[in-house]
Amino acid sequence: MDWKKELVNILSKPPLTDEPMSLHTSLRIGGPAEIFAVPQTFDELRSVLQLAGEYNIPLFVLGHGTNLLVRDGGIRGIVLSLHDLSSGCSFFGNRVRAGAGVSLSRLVRKAAERNLKGLEFAAGIPGSLGGALYMNAGAYGSSISELVREVVTVDYLGNRRVKPLEELDFSYRCSSFQSEEVIILEGVLELKRGNHKEIMNRVNEIQRRRQSKHPQLPSAGSVFRNPPGNIAGKLVEGAGCKGMSVGEAEVSPQHGNFIVNKGNASAADVLNLIELVKQKVRDTYGLELELEIRVIGEKGSE
Ligand SMILES: Cc1cc2nc3c(=O)[nH]c(=O)nc-3n(C[C@H](O)[C@H](O)[C@H](O)COP(=O)(O)OP(=O)(O)OC[C@H]3O[C@@H](n4cnc5c(N)ncnc54)[C@H](O)[C@@H]3O)c2cc1C
Repeated sequence: MDWKKELVNILSKPPLTDEPMSLHTSLRIGGPAEIFAVPQTFDELRSVLQLAGEYNIPLFVLGHGTNLLVRDGGIRGIVLSLHDLSSGCSFFGNRVRAGAGVSLSRLVRKAAERNLKGLEFAAGIPGSLGGALYMNAGAYGSSISELVREVVTVDYLGNRRVKPLEELDFSYRCSSFQSEEVIILEGVLELKRGNHKEIMNRVNEIQRRRQSKHPQLPSAGSVFRNPPGNIAGKLVEGAGCKGMSVGEAEVSPQHGNFIVNKGNASAADVLNLIELVKQKVRDTYGLELELEIRVIGEKGSE
């Protein structure tokens, strides 16, 4: 039997074929996923992993798609969404155990309701806990790695593992998960007791700052990592790139480190714009910008 037919037998929610990834990314860009699967149980997930291993099918784990540029040719193999599988969270003492699919904004809100502080920095960072752990998401001097105490993963052979803090490795926008073939299932975060009013003031202040600084058009957040001792957005601005565009992809006139999709931008437009910006920053400062967003998938036919 071919693997796509077997997959249909495994999954209780029928997998989608040629699903446009533009529907699943905050940039609203991306060619089709060959197969888009949303397992409903851990057993279903494990069976998908076994099938992918047996037929050598590439896998891509999608969070909420807020840090991704999917190329125009789309993604071969299976895109796995944990949206329905790991979207619960439960609090115990100062800790919360949350599924990888839970949104950071929900966690921020739930923690605040329980007078638990520590997550305020994440107010307004879109995306899932899984994506945040994978990327070591952070803002305003804090990052998720400071709170994490344990992460539950499953490897591509289907083995579930509980990884304690000592086995986790994080640095600026980087985690050990980036060099492993694992799926993050859930994480345990440790927060501190706080004062509800103070927590909410901080959350609201951060959200206000974001709203005033960040463009409202579709984007994937910061495109470039901050080079040591520098701020990527300032370098882009200093090199005269704000407002520069290719097709309908534009370096936001509001924030130098955001590339926005003004309508029908393609991934190729964004990638060409990125190259232009890198060249200008190189010419102006002699510095090489590195990408923070993750670029995946196949080139389009253009
Ligand atoms: C307007 C805007 C503002 C932003 N501001 C910030 C900010 O202040 N700070 C910041 O750090 N980021 C920011 N981001 C980027 C983004 O929101 C974060 O990186 C977020 O943590 C990504 O989560 P996600 O669920 O969307 O991951 P995705 O974009 O879906 O995936 C990102 C990577 O994580 C992997 N991944 C996701 N889930 C799992 C899983 N369960 N198991 C294994 N791998 C997984 C994916 O394979 C992919 O490689 C911003 C983005 C936008 C659009």
